Amino acid sequence: MADDFWHDERLLVDGKLVPARGGATFDNVNPATEQVIGVAADGTSEDMDEAIGAARRAFDATSWSSDVELRVRCVRQLREAFERHLEEIRATTVAEVGCPVALTHGPQLASPVAAIGWVADLLERYEWVTDLGVAEPFGQRSHRSVHREAVGVVGAITPWNFPHQINLAKVVPALAAGNTVVLKPAPDTPWSAAILGRLVAEETDIPPGVLNVVTSSSHGVGAQLSADPRVDLVSFTGSTATGRAVMTAGAATIKKLFLELGGKSAFIVLDDADLAAAAAGVAFQITAHAGQGCAITSRFVVPRQREHEAIEAVTSMLASFPYGDPTDPSNLMGPLIRAGQRDRVLGYIQKGKDEGATVALGGGRPAHLPSGFYVEPTVLTGVDRKATVAQEEIFGPVLVVIAHDGDQDAVDIANDSVYGLSGAVVSADVDRARSVAKRVRTGTIAVNGGGFYSPDVPFGGYRQSGIGREMGVAGFEEYLESKSVAEGGR
Ligand code: NAD
Repeated sequence: MADDFWHDERLLVDGKLVPARGGATFDNVNPATEQVIGVAADGTSEDMDEAIGAARRAFDATSWSSDVELRVRCVRQLREAFERHLEEIRATTVAEVGCPVALTHGPQLASPVAAIGWVADLLERYEWVTDLGVAEPFGQRSHRSVHREAVGVVGAITPWNFPHQINLAKVVPALAAGNTVVLKPAPDTPWSAAILGRLVAEETDIPPGVLNVVTSSSHGVGAQLSADPRVDLVSFTGSTATGRAVMTAGAATIKKLFLELGGKSAFIVLDDADLAAAAAGVAFQITAHAGQGCAITSRFVVPRQREHEAIEAVTSMLASFPYGDPTDPSNLMGPLIRAGQRDRVLGYIQKGKDEGATVALGGGRPAHLPSGFYVEPTVLTGVDRKATVAQEEIFGPVLVVIAHDGDQDAVDIANDSVYGLSGAVVSADVDRARSVAKRVRTGTIAVNGGGFYSPDVPFGGYRQSGIGREMGVAGFEEYLESKSVAEGGR
């Protein structure tokens, strides 16, 4: 074992921190060193079965769903627990996720922990009942009201790229809304979820069974969670292909679904824009967590007459981009999560070349980093808008440059995708930029460098990027049912 990172190796089932059935564990590998840093409990289908049963009982037989005061207290306790251990969790996160430590001061740790407080504040002021007043439908005098109630048992299935952010953006609003939850994290980042389980068990009053955490090396326990009839809603973040499987599995029992899936977002530069600023913006994005972000703008859509200028600006920016050891605060990019992911990204670069693209920068494994799953910041130019690398999510630090012939053509390129998660547009004329933003079919878009990541802003996708919204009031209400009540005689 390379180091003694603060973590946990147990599942949380029915309020108890326990090993997996049979005591099996699996290795947790640091993607920057390729060293095993410890193990996680390898939850089985029996463990998952027990966790779902515990969540069902906690929802059906305790006052969790009706006791708002208890929930506010517990959510605040969870934030305090994370804050108490923040520095220990930071070191564990860098080792497990391979993200640069700089990112843990933002979206990899600090921001999602701060966002827990936003949910507690919302819970305190949330109006659970809307009074619609009196009407006389079919001659019956009725006083109508709409009541919001928890959905029930939530299965939360999460990926590895921003594990704290995604675990917390699901678990916290789901619990705050009065649901009980079974969390199944990705096999690559089990400790982020096990830490959450440990803090809940040891440092909050969240009752047994309300949150259960089942780490596992097997995707099968995720499939089990998405099919179990005792689960009312599945909240899933991951690839579009797995999202499709989750939808299919939930169909038999008509589960509610909340899906955050893949993306292939466009960064559109209009012909009057400041190219240097645009290049800096897109360079920062494509290297953020080595391109392993669903909303990262990986298509740089630039005016044809300024294409060479744009390529020059972005390649010179990326050529000197600091990357390597993620524990070094001066590095702004770390490795990919695992060898298979690195090889997949290298395969896409080869495919790009095969389909006629030119590698203007990078394109391989960095010679100066012999261990760790690194890929060089890469720029592919001369890319056809229909090419595989322009259409499929690469999930690595690979930027494709596509030339456009005017504002509407840029919009058409951006919308020429099965995805619709995010995007960006820059122009010296804000009205032109707004007009383009309005025509791009995505769930979020940044105009002239704006930032939408904050706890009060809903995040999610159009088309095959998903169904529903995470964060904000909309993200909280994903976890609520709506009951219309009509009282006669009033
Ligand atoms: P993945 O789809 O391979 O796995 C996600 C989770 O699903 C993991 O916990 C995995 O164990 C589980 N899983 C796998 N097969 C399953 C099945 N048949 N049934 C139920 N669960 C199953 O995704 P990943 O590789 O972990 O993450 C990368 C993907 O996630 C990318 O496509 C990325 O765009 C997407 N993502 C989307 C968002 C968003 O908010 N839209 C955010 C982060 C990541």
